[in-house]
Amino acid sequence: MSSVSLPGMSQITLQFVGGTRVTTAANDVAQAVGRIAGRSKAPAPPRPPSSSEAHATRSRKARDSTAAGAAGQGANGMGRTRQQKGALRVLVSAADMLRTARREGFAIGAFNVNNLEFLRAIVEAAQAERAPVILQVSEGAAAYMGFAESAAMCRAAAEAAKVPCALHLDHGSSLAAAVRCIRAGYSSVMIDSSKRPLDENIRVTRSVLEVAHAVDVSVEAEIGRIGGTEDDLTVSEREATLAVPAEVERFYAEAPVDALAVAIGSAHGHYRGVPKLDFERLRAIRDRVDVPLVLHGGSGIPDEAVRTAIGLGIAKVNVNTENQEAFAAELRKLLAEDPDVYDPRKILARPRDAAREMVRTKMRLFGASGKA
Ligand SMILES: [Zn+2]
Repeated sequence: MSSVSLPGMSQITLQFVGGTRVTTAANDVAQAVGRIAGRSKAPAPPRPPSSSEAHATRSRKARDSTAAGAAGQGANGMGRTRQQKGALRVLVSAADMLRTARREGFAIGAFNVNNLEFLRAIVEAAQAERAPVILQVSEGAAAYMGFAESAAMCRAAAEAAKVPCALHLDHGSSLAAAVRCIRAGYSSVMIDSSKRPLDENIRVTRSVLEVAHAVDVSVEAEIGRIGGTEDDLTVSEREATLAVPAEVERFYAEAPVDALAVAIGSAHGHYRGVPKLDFERLRAIRDRVDVPLVLHGGSGIPDEAVRTAIGLGIAKVNVNTENQEAFAAELRKLLAEDPDVYDPRKILARPRDAAREMVRTKMRLFGASGKA
């Protein structure tokens, strides 16, 4: 691929699937991503498509209409990120579902896909609860499953689901990681530059916004630092990691994201004690910015605290650890009961169902059941 330079446009470097390093201008990237992902809102490029591009478009439309037709639904091959009531269920951007959740006072559950069993567990739970859902994949989990394999698997499951599903990158580390996921069909990405100074966090988030919004992909960012369980920190050390309301206001004014993860005392992984969320801080943030807020580290927070947080503007709650624990506990039990079992389908079915029940419990807690 050749390098393109346009006057007045910032140069950025991207690592695409297949290892091709491409240097081009941000607008060109947005258009290229839109063409590849088939979801561009931008006007068509001035030149006519080559015959291979036209063929690809026709194939994609034919595939969409075949898939939707098989499900007894309509198809238009366009607007793939928008849910159409009673007609086509497709992968949706998280923006609309999060706005609705914030307005109506519930939260969308965002559950991490660790493997095929987790994917099935989450989608089955969403369908059973008639809940909109965010399937999220971390860079580490994508590497574990295989990047292309995981994207194709999640996309297929989300597009076949009978409820609105977003496919979301969890804790994206760079613009390149976000673009790679958008190109692979993700409908939502998180850019986490929260460890960098505020100005740098804003700059990096804006670069992702420019590309993602051009192709109708939603963006989550993070402010404050949500680390691992920080039990060893002193109170003042812990305070220093939390989101500062005035900084949140400035961040959102300069980087108007679709969802904002705010550090209010939750942490990733397993809590040793009972986590204490800073509700006064959350309230102050909610009063300053009208954006769906995100609670990371949702595992192990008491139900009542989760409900209070949702009442104060949290519209997305991330859960992974509790699903993993439910899966692992059932797996241990099954292997102890039957030490001779060797068929992975027999080994993993019950743990998968245990994870599904945990996801259903969380959806009910978040008030998302029946909202699809
Ligand atoms: Zn997180």
